[in-house]
Amino acid sequence: MGEKESWIRFHKECEGLFRMFVVRPDQPAPPECKARYDAALEWWVKRIFAEERPLCIACEHEFTTDRQTGPRAMLVIEPSRDDAGTMVLPGICQRCAKRTDTELIEVAFKDLKEMGIADRNLGPLGPGGTE
Ligand SMILES: [Zn+2]
Repeated sequence: MGEKESWIRFHKECEGLFRMFVVRPDQPAPPECKARYDAALEWWVKRIFAEERPLCIACEHEFTTDRQTGPRAMLVIEPSRDDAGTMVLPGICQRCAKRTDTELIEVAFKDLKEMGIADRNLGPLGPGGTE
């Protein structure tokens, strides 16, 4: 499944309503989405090894199998539904990981809007993401 197909599937599943939060080494995924997070992360790593070179969510950095330049955080984007079966998980590079969660979520939200995925008002951004 390529990047575009996964976004289309994601958009269908969440119907424009989703939540976002940043996972960092000292800020793990919450227990209720840990299994989905692990699966999404595994898929992300597979893409790296398939040389798909996914981009950082906030800049043009391309991730490769080089651990030195690997992501320092991940952005979780998932449908705001309890039975969510899908999750989009872009990486955040070393440089961008220095930005706050709120800044990163705002950058991602702007991109999603431009892609026509975020088409509903999510309300104010909370410290841990949007709801
Ligand atoms: Zn970056």
